[in-house]
Amino acid sequence: MRVMAQMGMVMNLDKCIGCHTCSVTCKQAWTNRSGVEYVWFNNVETRPGQGYPRTYQDQERWLGGWTLNRRGRLSLKAGGRLKKLFSIFANPKLPAIEDYYEPWTYDYDNLVQAPLGDHVPVARPKSLISGEDMQVRWSANWDDDLGGGPDLTRSDPTLKAMTEKANTQVRLEFEKTFMFYLPRICEHCLNPSCVASCPSGAMYKRAEDGIVLVDQDRCRGWRMCVTGCPYKKVYFNHRTGKAEKCTFCFPRVEVGLPTVCSETCVGRLRYIGVMLYDADRVAEAASTTDEHDLYEAQRRVFLDPNDPVVAREAERAGIPRDWIEAAQRSPLWALINTYRVALPLHPEYRTMPMVWYIPPLSPVVDVVRDAGVDGEDAGNLFGAIDALRIPIGYLAELFTAGDPAPVTTVLRRLAAMRSYMREVNLGRPTDESIAATVG
Ligand code: SF4
Ligand code: SF4
Repeated sequence: MRVMAQMGMVMNLDKCIGCHTCSVTCKQAWTNRSGVEYVWFNNVETRPGQGYPRTYQDQERWLGGWTLNRRGRLSLKAGGRLKKLFSIFANPKLPAIEDYYEPWTYDYDNLVQAPLGDHVPVARPKSLISGEDMQVRWSANWDDDLGGGPDLTRSDPTLKAMTEKANTQVRLEFEKTFMFYLPRICEHCLNPSCVASCPSGAMYKRAEDGIVLVDQDRCRGWRMCVTGCPYKKVYFNHRTGKAEKCTFCFPRVEVGLPTVCSETCVGRLRYIGVMLYDADRVAEAASTTDEHDLYEAQRRVFLDPNDPVVAREAERAGIPRDWIEAAQRSPLWALINTYRVALPLHPEYRTMPMVWYIPPLSPVVDVVRDAGVDGEDAGNLFGAIDALRIPIGYLAELFTAGDPAPVTTVLRRLAAMRSYMREVNLGRPTDESIAATVG
């Protein structure tokens, strides 16, 4: 056992309201400079949606796809290898500015002086219709405005009659739409591909807390880290010619303060803490060949900080006593391993990400009215899970490499927790079986 300490974060997606306060405060703190105008170390993307940068999850597009080689190591597919050779000279798989977004300056005068209009904008981004003019017509969070649904306020009498006739059906269709927010920072991976891909040795992972940083003096601007990061969380400063990325606010963390995004989060949904892990298990977990075991394999790397053997080994490894105690109090250990409600983002990328997510349970309201089932009632718990508006398959694609079983288990546990707390808050007698589900 080789015990190491790692900073990490868990975000509870049910609480994110998409206010972007975290992004703005992060930008003010870290990227409010020339050369990085387009950069958001912290971004909040709309799901479903293209993300930021656009389509970053399409690993075929950016890297030609990953595969496991005969030794069980992660490598690029054959086509990808050729592209990689080529990329040593040209690095052609970099996102372009239009994949991020082109920053602009608002005309604030126009905001207050423009006359009131009769209609809200209804035009779709031109790029989605014609495939052209992307940088003008597409931007991060455009997806907010793309949700389908009927316009029930149309004044056209024929359309209005049609809409009213089909009202019930339309309403049901409309209520099937869903959207949620996914805040993202660098994952400060246990197996960071940005570090592995840097030809200059400028990207490094700090031994004491696992934070991944760029040595600005050593960076030569190859941008292999931008290509190599599957989460696209390294950015290029076109003014300095160097790579930059989220620092997990290390100057704050070092003096006991939370990251800026955590401190300013309106939804109070970000939990940060220390995890202890076994460094000897990382390579094995990252190269597991069983896709269904990817999430569990990553979870098994973490060590129980309350286990006296682990605590002793951690001390022997030179981890300070206050860090071990922080790991014992860590909300991350509780959410990931005790309650098991947090899941990693895209474990199939095999970089062992350290920002985990509690998947969104809401909304369950249409279940209440249409099926006569209360989604938050303990007795109806399992029926309600099957009728959630956000498809479990979609969440599984994000968090468990497509395996729906762990997501279903987490959502049931969350529903049980919600039900239990509702009974507690209403002063009603609580159901012991639900308490057991909550753990
Ligand atoms: Fe590196 Fe990307 Fe992982 Fe961050 S998310 S540590 S930039 S591989
Ligand atoms: Fe979501 Fe919090 Fe960021 Fe607002 S500040 S967008 S609630 S993560």
